[in-house]
Amino acid sequence: MLRIHCPWCGLRDHEEFTLWGEATRHFPALDAPHAQWVQSVYARPNPRGETQEFFQHNLGCRRWLVVSRNNLTHEVLSVVPAHERSAAKEDRA
Ligand SMILES: [Zn+2]
Repeated sequence: MLRIHCPWCGLRDHEEFTLWGEATRHFPALDAPHAQWVQSVYARPNPRGETQEFFQHNLGCRRWLVVSRNNLTHEVLSVVPAHERSAAKEDRA
């Protein structure tokens, strides 16, 4: 069983969370060519090992998190609030 440490609620079972997908994924601009959108939606990488994914603690505080985990061992490597991750990315830009 996957257990995720929510920064606000503490250690919780993964059943309290909703997985919303890859946190490293970037979509093309809205007016990008159709082929680029098809590539982005259907031809995604499927990495083995460390991944970063968005989770929402929907049966708890309802906040969004970025969870880094190893998708082979299910070891949770880190959990950060999604807004802090976004702010850090903007600082680097
Ligand atoms: Zn929570």
